[in-house]
Amino acid sequence: MSKVIVVKAKEELVVSSLKKGEVHRLQIHLTDNALGVPWRVPLIIIRGENKGPTLGITAALHGNELNGISTIFKLIEKIDPKKLSGNLVLVPISNVPGYLLNQRYFIDNVDLNRIMPGKPHGKPSSLYAHQFIHKIVKKFNYLLDLHTASHGRVNSLYIRADLENEETRTLAFLQNPQIIVSKYDEHGTLRAWANDHNIPTITIEIGNSNAFQHSLIDETLDGILNTLRHLKMIRGRVKDMIANSVVCENSYWIYSSRGGIVDVYPNLAETIKTGQIIARVFDVFGQVKEIIRSDKDGVVIGKNVAPNCEAGTRILHLGVNWIEPDPESIPGHED
Ligand SMILES: [Zn+2]
Repeated sequence: MSKVIVVKAKEELVVSSLKKGEVHRLQIHLTDNALGVPWRVPLIIIRGENKGPTLGITAALHGNELNGISTIFKLIEKIDPKKLSGNLVLVPISNVPGYLLNQRYFIDNVDLNRIMPGKPHGKPSSLYAHQFIHKIVKKFNYLLDLHTASHGRVNSLYIRADLENEETRTLAFLQNPQIIVSKYDEHGTLRAWANDHNIPTITIEIGNSNAFQHSLIDETLDGILNTLRHLKMIRGRVKDMIANSVVCENSYWIYSSRGGIVDVYPNLAETIKTGQIIARVFDVFGQVKEIIRSDKDGVVIGKNVAPNCEAGTRILHLGVNWIEPDPESIPGHED
């Protein structure tokens, strides 16, 4: 029988108050629901025996994006707090009401990752975001924010990061993903708030929503362990990662202009050519109404897999303008 662990409810995360060399499990009270019962966020804190930075890993800020939860659970099993330098603060379910409803949004149908850092007085989502930032995220020195594709779409394993910033570029390459997209920090995202407050942060997009995809989870875990080695939180050599990622200067969605039934052809992470047919939209009688072609050479970051297609549906997420990164700018690389 496994040992019963008492989980303590707390008002705020105070890492220094926790005993070194141990794993702690806490629930942090953010706001209250309509029964007056607290919304509490579960945290696992691996408090290292030795000094070092505090790395936060957040998952399911969109409540149906679940691959990050399994990634965190697997990470816990890999880390010995007696050998860790610094602290790992793991947040498997950031958007607790969204998770319970199996939906992307908070309970008031607002996207938490567009309203950060929230407000001390405002809508339910605003209050929750504010408390999440001030009681938890503010305590991090680095942050990896784990996401997936939205419902009805599928993703490769890819990173969104500001590649102009040395620290976030390093974090991006350490993950060794299929694709890296250089993205400025979109206003209102957790990543934007954290980077503005000297907490280097990247977004890791792990496959699809509503599922555990273990091959992508294991690749993500590898990247996180690599990050821990780079930050000298665990021992070991940082993996060389120069050859593996496709780095895009930007990306955009290609949309349908007709409605009907859509079939999208390329595979994830496939490279495609300008003019290549990427999808066809049929009417309900099986006749082709629209042929959608790529307007550029690029790589498939994500795509729509839901056949019912309103005119104006996102069809394919294309990464374009590949960059050959300077080897000097990539950690762990040795000629
Ligand atoms: Zn997300």
